[in-house]
Amino acid sequence: MTKLRLAIVGAGPAGIYAADILLKAERKFEVSIDLFDHLPAPYGLVRYGVAPDHPRIKGIITALRDVLDRGDIRVFGNVRFGIDLTIDDLKKHYNAVIFATGAVRDADLLIPGADLDGSYGAAEFVSWFDGHPDFARTWPLEARQIAVIGNGNVALDVSRMLIKHAADLLPTEIPGNVYDGLAASPVTDVHVFGRRGPTSVKFTPLELREIGELNDVDIVVHEEDFDYDEAAQAAVAGNKQVFVIDKIMTKWRQREAGTASRRLHLHFFAKPLEILDDGTGRVGGIRWERTAPDGEGGVVGTGEIRELPIQALYRAVGYFGSPLPGVPFDKKRGIIPNREGQVLRRDPSAGSGGLFNQQMYGVYATGWIKRGPVGLIGHTKSDAMETIKHLINDAGNWWRPESPAEDSIVALLDERGIRYTGLDGWHNLDQHELALGEAAGRVRIKVVPRDEMVDISLGQ
Ligand SMILES: Cc1cc2nc3c(=O)[nH]c(=O)nc-3n(C[C@H](O)[C@H](O)[C@H](O)COP(=O)(O)OP(=O)(O)OC[C@H]3O[C@@H](n4cnc5c(N)ncnc54)[C@H](O)[C@@H]3O)c2cc1C
Repeated sequence: MTKLRLAIVGAGPAGIYAADILLKAERKFEVSIDLFDHLPAPYGLVRYGVAPDHPRIKGIITALRDVLDRGDIRVFGNVRFGIDLTIDDLKKHYNAVIFATGAVRDADLLIPGADLDGSYGAAEFVSWFDGHPDFARTWPLEARQIAVIGNGNVALDVSRMLIKHAADLLPTEIPGNVYDGLAASPVTDVHVFGRRGPTSVKFTPLELREIGELNDVDIVVHEEDFDYDEAAQAAVAGNKQVFVIDKIMTKWRQREAGTASRRLHLHFFAKPLEILDDGTGRVGGIRWERTAPDGEGGVVGTGEIRELPIQALYRAVGYFGSPLPGVPFDKKRGIIPNREGQVLRRDPSAGSGGLFNQQMYGVYATGWIKRGPVGLIGHTKSDAMETIKHLINDAGNWWRPESPAEDSIVALLDERGIRYTGLDGWHNLDQHELALGEAAGRVRIKVVPRDEMVDISLGQ
């Protein structure tokens, strides 16, 4: 083998890091990589997940762009795997494929009332405020009191975007319609619920501290949540992150009652039981059970039930991967089953209930679709290293494509009438958005409709 023709599906951080790592790796063969994404813009959740008021994290795009701008990776935007291209097409044109398709949808919250009007998945809201082309462009922001379920950073992002004054978001890259929607929001109180105690949260200290510094927003914590048991005390003493989180909360506990016009309440040891109907099929309240430490770092129900009136609820209980046609999928975990990035299929002799224990040669996974939707952007780099190591070692088992020439895939996309966008197209769109932003004194103004993104990319 003298050349590896590799397709990578997904131009988020995982896909771009995988391409970069392979190109820089020690190997005995040439490499030619085509990177496909179903969106006309690359960078995945860095562009469409990370909150617009986190410019430092959004800045990771600069490093990812540097990789693409080097010119040794071909980019094909607006190409949807499963619709525009199939696994059989890839087999015909490449020696191997890496799936780096991430996760975009919400994990389910299985409590009564989760499907009432006014109950939203965090992922949908995030896609709205980050201007994802495939999601609704208007968002109902009519609630004064809102609940957010979850104790991870996405719950913090959602709560912060809901409670922050829109004027404080204006300098960021939020789309105009998002600013208008948030500016008209009557919200006064956002209540964040977590089943466990303050020492068990998945918030990271930086993001937690940030909510205490918001303009005209008071943080409300409840003394009853800070009666730490031995396990919690040990966590504060033995884990640096928990120590810092406890310190931040201690400061909030000692603050005088505030006079801000908006409040963000943190409710710990609160297990949501039901989202209450207001009588018209809309969210009217939340009912939860007070929990207590079980002595082993977990919690048990106490039987004490509480309620609070709310008019909207956001479920920030995790993201979940989506299946791809022709590719094995673990429905329970929402991932492509794999062993260190080598995709596994079920043992054919064992039927549909068989274990995923047979390597599917030529097929690899990396990023959130490989290991599940947890972890920061940086983690996708170590992920990619592991996957690339196996891809290189598996050279003897790669596919043997009948049309490996680089222009044959271009001919196929042209033949199918796919309006794919290349790296030049992304540069056009990027420049256009930056210019729109500059004219308005803002970082960037995103173009949201997919057709418009494609037209601008293609210079049409
Ligand atoms: C709301 C939110 C906020 C976050 N904030 C931070 C933060 O502040 N800091 C941090 O470090 N991490 C943050 N993260 C985590 C970070 O976004 C992830 O770790 C990272 O994006 C995962 O990378 P990925 O490439 O695996 O997936 P993704 O970023 O999701 O990229 C997947 C790509 O695959 C493409 N794709 C999907 N399906 C197809 C298909 N069928 N055909 C073609 N292409 C397809 C998608 O369009 C996308 O571009 C946040 C995550 C979320 C959800």
